[in-house]
Amino acid sequence: MILNEILPIEKEPLKMIDLPIPVPGRKEILIKVSTCGVCHTELDEIEGRIQAKLPIVLGHEIVGRVERMGSEAKRFNLEDRVGVAWIHSACGKCRFCKEGNENLCSEFQGTGCHAHGGYAQYTVVSEDFAYSIPERFSDSEAAPLLCAGAIGYRDLKLSGIRKGQTLGLFGFGASAHIVIQVAQYWGCEVFVFTRSEEHRELAKRLGASWAGGPEEEPRRKLNCAIDFTPVGETVPNALRVLEKGGRLVLAVIRKRNAIPSLDYAQLLWDEKEIKSVANITRKDAQEFLPLASQIPIIPEVQEFKLEEANKVLILLKQGRIQGAGVLRMPD
Ligand SMILES: [Zn+2]
Ligand SMILES: [Zn+2]
Repeated sequence: MILNEILPIEKEPLKMIDLPIPVPGRKEILIKVSTCGVCHTELDEIEGRIQAKLPIVLGHEIVGRVERMGSEAKRFNLEDRVGVAWIHSACGKCRFCKEGNENLCSEFQGTGCHAHGGYAQYTVVSEDFAYSIPERFSDSEAAPLLCAGAIGYRDLKLSGIRKGQTLGLFGFGASAHIVIQVAQYWGCEVFVFTRSEEHRELAKRLGASWAGGPEEEPRRKLNCAIDFTPVGETVPNALRVLEKGGRLVLAVIRKRNAIPSLDYAQLLWDEKEIKSVANITRKDAQEFLPLASQIPIIPEVQEFKLEEANKVLILLKQGRIQGAGVLRMPD
């Protein structure tokens, strides 16, 4: 499914075409894709809030098997089950890369953004940017772990949350429904803010101690909060219920609309912090996948066929996907 031009998703801009099977370079592997998760970032790429290199095959939560290897690729064997995440490559030489912050590298390449991704039967990636998938998960369950899960894990780490603290999740989609499971494993009390009645029910089923609307007041202040929503209004709502010295993490790459002006005394003073999250490092995925297996995370997935990609993204935009949407490739 290829994206040729920037359009609103309602115009169904993804088109099914035939492309030659890609050939892996020396250090690359060719993956026969089994499933690919559908992420909110794809909406940003399709609708032009993130500049993808067009034409592009989207998709950065890829699960499949190694089908062919480049002459110098040796980390995996043929038929190994592997995953690919949002980080497709980074330079490896700059200050950020050397400090382990390859997510901030100015040459960072996003899977399905600067290089073809997983809305396809085949994809290639450097073997250094592929991960073994734990046995416990099916191909569909594993897909959302690669972005929704791994970046959610990064969000949690950056929030600075500690055992016994309170955590607020604003928006309860693919990432939040995984983050809540990690937070509980770490002994945190979780409060969920979402307009969707179905999402509140899922949150409670997954152990949220409270679930309400985005402007409601929970019975305890939040030590940390993560904002997964694509709208600016969430920022003042979250800051209002944040404890003194608390930190709000903004998990999305782009907001659809501006953040309203913030009343300093009411919303920011008392040492409150706001931090954004950019991309993902390999270490995030390498740490998160075994942790997800150990907890174990139970991803809630809704499976669709590859050719239904436009439809899934429309449902996602409308907030009508429960858990994570996953595309299954034809054989
Ligand atoms: Zn993503
Ligand atoms: Zn770099």
